[in-house]
Amino acid sequence: MQLYYHPDQERHAPPSFLLRGRQVASPEGPVRAELLSAGLAECGLSLVAPAASDGERLRERLLRIHTPRYLDFLETIYARWQALPDAAEIVAPNVHPCGGGHHYPRHPVGQVGWHMHDMACPMTADSFAGILASAASAEAAAEAVMAGKRYAYALCRPPGHHAGPERAGGFCFLNNSALAATVLREQHERVAILDVDLHHGNGTQDIFYARGDVWTGSLHADTTDFYPFFWGGADETGEGEGAGANLNIPLPLGSDGATFMAALERLIEAMQAFRPTALVVALGLDAHKADPLAGLVLESEDFTLVGQRLAAIEWPTVIVQEGGYPTDYLGANLAAFMRGYCQT
Ligand SMILES: [Zn+2]
Repeated sequence: MQLYYHPDQERHAPPSFLLRGRQVASPEGPVRAELLSAGLAECGLSLVAPAASDGERLRERLLRIHTPRYLDFLETIYARWQALPDAAEIVAPNVHPCGGGHHYPRHPVGQVGWHMHDMACPMTADSFAGILASAASAEAAAEAVMAGKRYAYALCRPPGHHAGPERAGGFCFLNNSALAATVLREQHERVAILDVDLHHGNGTQDIFYARGDVWTGSLHADTTDFYPFFWGGADETGEGEGAGANLNIPLPLGSDGATFMAALERLIEAMQAFRPTALVVALGLDAHKADPLAGLVLESEDFTLVGQRLAAIEWPTVIVQEGGYPTDYLGANLAAFMRGYCQT
């Protein structure tokens, strides 16, 4: 298997985020890549850096899923923020257009509120380089599959599935899974994204909600009581050309592996009816019982079953790392998934 990780990804190292009103250490940092990489090494897999990417081509592909002003914002906001009087080292919102605003502001504070959905996406001086490198890893994995590999993996961190057309949130800035699907679309008429992260992939859903060429499906802890709160219901099924091409399966908090696998089976059945010819797996590992974001109670062995089941879908597949936070189990959970995936 080809597995990608760009060393520049560690340049995004947010020190903290706001949780229940408290500033706490961010669980989404470079240590995740170390733990995940150690897990891959356990099963004899190693990461390679993507070849130097063509920046213009990457931007052109990102523009198929994100707005131009959002990409410009991510690239320029740190410098503009620092030019404000008394600005902190970290870019973070303190105002939001709740209920939707009427115009796009020029002021950096307004733009940060417009584009940053929550307090879990702080940016430092090097963040943009790290964010772009994460996207480049997803792009490289998708290109490997386009070049004939049956499957490839991208260790994307920061993750991406909460990032919408022009919104960062939940540690996510650029939607790496959506980017992988966008690259695959250059060869495939219909592509599917299957999201098995603990959290609903609201950004991915938003990007493709009205499109009929990319099917999106997500199983996740019920968002009535869980992040991202405002999306993820079973009644969100797509609109316009995308009507029927989005499926959400919310699971009760505390659901176990058996419930998870039954939901995965339903998702796969619906996905197959869409007749895609290529797949992106948005691979979160935070459904594990020990994950600090605590929502479901999967065991490590359950990820082997998930891997086996997904490997049985014999389409060209890009596996994109989404969530899964530092615990003694994180590396082992990726290893468990890979053992299941590569065995079959
Ligand atoms: Zn997650």
